[in-house]
Parts: sequence; C-alpha cells; structure tokens
Amino acid sequence: MRRPVIAGNWKMYKTLAETRAFFQAFLPLVAGTKHCDIVVAPPYTALTAAAESTRGSGVAIAAQDLHWAVEGAFTGEISARMIAEAGCRGVVVGHSERRQYFGETDESVLRKTRAALEAGLQPIVCVGETLVEREGNLAESVLKRQFEDGLAALTPPEFSRILLAYEPVWAIGTGRTATPEQAAEAHGHLRAMAAARFGPEQASSLRILYGGSVKPENIRGLMAQAEIDGALVGGASLDPKSFAAIVNY
Ligand code: PEP
Repeated sequence: MRRPVIAGNWKMYKTLAETRAFFQAFLPLVAGTKHCDIVVAPPYTALTAAAESTRGSGVAIAAQDLHWAVEGAFTGEISARMIAEAGCRGVVVGHSERRQYFGETDESVLRKTRAALEAGLQPIVCVGETLVEREGNLAESVLKRQFEDGLAALTPPEFSRILLAYEPVWAIGTGRTATPEQAAEAHGHLRAMAAARFGPEQASSLRILYGGSVKPENIRGLMAQAEIDGALVGGASLDPKSFAAIVNY
C-alpha cells in the first residue's frame, strides 16, 4: 500500500509575511490529517520561515530547484546542502517551467537528483509531455526518454528514495486537467519503465504524483485511480483553504 503524498509548489509566490500567514491558517486545517504526507515547496527566501512555521506539524518543506554542485562559483545558485540546512526534507527537480524557461535537461535532472539524494533530501522528479507531443502521439516516448536519460542511471537504493511527478505540460496552470484515466495511463507507463529497470518490487513501491490544474473539485476523481499516489499542486496550493481541501480529499 503506497502512502499518498500531496505536495504544493508555490512557484515565485509569497513573501516571508505571506508564508507565515499561510501556515497560521493552514496548519489547523490539517492538524488531524493522517492519511497522507504533506509537502510545501516555497521560494528559496521563504524556506527557513516555512520550516520554522511547520516545525512539529508533520508538514515537510521542499525547495523548488537546486544546483548539483556542493559549492562553487555559480552565482545565483543554491546547493542541496544549503537547502537541507534551511530545514527542507525534499526538493522538486526538473519541473517543466525549469525545462521550458531555464534550459533544464534530462542530464541536469539526473545530476540534480543525485546531488539531492547525497544531501539526504527526497527529490520530487517531474516528467511530462507538451501538448504538441501528446497530439503527435509522442507522450509515451517522451516519458520514456525523460525516464531513461533522467533516472535510469540511479542505483536501486537511490531510486527507492525518489518521488516521481507526472506533470503534462499542457495541464500546468492552464485550468485543463488530464482526466483521471489519462493520468492513470501515463502513471502505468512510468511504473512499467520503473519495473523494467529496477524490478517489480521497486516499481510497486514507487509513488507517482499527478500534477496539472489539480483543484479541490477534481482531486477525488484523480485519487480514486489506483495508479495515482498523490498530487503536485501549483496554483491551488497558494490558498490555505483550497490546499487543505485538496489534502483532505
Ligand atoms: C505545478 O506547478 O507543478 C502545477 C501543477 O501547477 P498548477 O497546479 O497550477 O497547474
């Protein structure tokens, strides 16, 4: 039985004051929540405040990206060790907005995933096809490339520590959600790839989250699919009531 995970990705939203106000409103709404892991990924500047606000609550904090080096002359970048020190337990890697706007590649995803694992962080590795790729019947082959080039080189113990997020690019921030069946089908392909590379046992314990316009209104339908182990939520994670409604689906 895979434990569900509901994760929020705040992208470039929320100041320190807004972060503290969010958790003040959010934590009481999930104080009794036992059925899933809860993760929130604020911007870098709010990580420490978020970690302090959630201490003892069971809500885990994650960063939204990292650099693969331990340290060095990489102006503007943040290492896994810095993220862990800020109080994070995880980090999002390979989000489609990083791939689309900041030149993230499958190769850099692999390097970042390894760096996160080395620092004791849980990577939430994002994969997903664009609309043009889906319409060209290329969704499965894109996922295969992202999996093979971005993850297949991990060792089995490394792979056992990651979370995978299927985020079709056409559904992110567009209000257009994949149907539960479309998402479950893609998750099934990813799980089959994991089984082929790491064996059936590891594949069956891999948690795969769906991301793309998840809202309080559609989370139940998505979570009813056996293949869907949780959600990575962007826009709807910014409001404490809406994110709590998703967590408490
Ligand atoms: C995301 O940022 O990972 C995401 C899925 O965004 P949204 O929920 O807003 O589509």
